[in-house]
Amino acid sequence: MNDYIKLLKDANKLNISIDKAKTFNWEYTKIAGPCSVEGPEIIDIAKNIKALGANAFRAGAYKPCTYPVLEEKNGWKEGLRGEGLRLLQQVKEETNLPIVTEVMDANMIDEVGQVADVFQIGTRNFQNYTLLDALGKCDTPILLKRGTWGTIDEILGACERILVGGNENIAICLRGVVGMPGYRHVFPSIRWAPDLMMIPALKELTNIPIIYDPSHSTGYRNFVKPMSKAALAAGADGLIIECHPIPEESISDADQAIDYNTLGEIFNG
Ligand code: PEP
Ligand code: MN
Repeated sequence: MNDYIKLLKDANKLNISIDKAKTFNWEYTKIAGPCSVEGPEIIDIAKNIKALGANAFRAGAYKPCTYPVLEEKNGWKEGLRGEGLRLLQQVKEETNLPIVTEVMDANMIDEVGQVADVFQIGTRNFQNYTLLDALGKCDTPILLKRGTWGTIDEILGACERILVGGNENIAICLRGVVGMPGYRHVFPSIRWAPDLMMIPALKELTNIPIIYDPSHSTGYRNFVKPMSKAALAAGADGLIIECHPIPEESISDADQAIDYNTLGEIFNG
């Protein structure tokens, strides 16, 4: 066994005590919403998504993209940013859904924290220790997304980085990783390998809840439903799914967004 994991195991660091009643309920968590906040229609979208069974709402106000977005489109430039947060606040007031949204930098914790019920740490920040350390010191729940390169010990190391600060309300979000060359020439939007085996592998070592992201695992909407079922069958505690009323018109991540019908089938099927 890897020395680091042995150390964590021996010190009983991998079993956390989560007060589910007090903060966020990580048990069969159904988080859904568009990739990013695109405009005021987000309020109606959230109402529809709630009606389909979601118990939390996701959408990025600050939206880091793989390739830098140079042009602004109706106020959207890697997100609506401050305006996006304002709209998420309205979503919260009108739907009562907890808001899951990304915080990209330690100096944005206060601003994003005004609205976020759960801080999402994006894949690009999976080992941003300044951010992880700062989030470890607050008590807002954290959804830590796996880096596209992250090995099992690196995932647990990143969790530990937050846990040592005192914030035990964390969940690991599994999204796709590098290394699936066999699909892209046929399904061009598929960039990642889903790696479902990480679910039972983590379950063997830790009780930290595992939320599976079939959208950023597949990159292709037709595979979101089967991979959601597979993840739940493999033991995931919940799902976070990108859903849009007109998926192909999503400003970001259009190829992987699913429509309302499909979301209903996943949550209620
Ligand atoms: C997202 O959830 O919209 C997102 C940007 O995910 P990731 O950080 O996994 O790319
Ligand atoms: Mn996205």
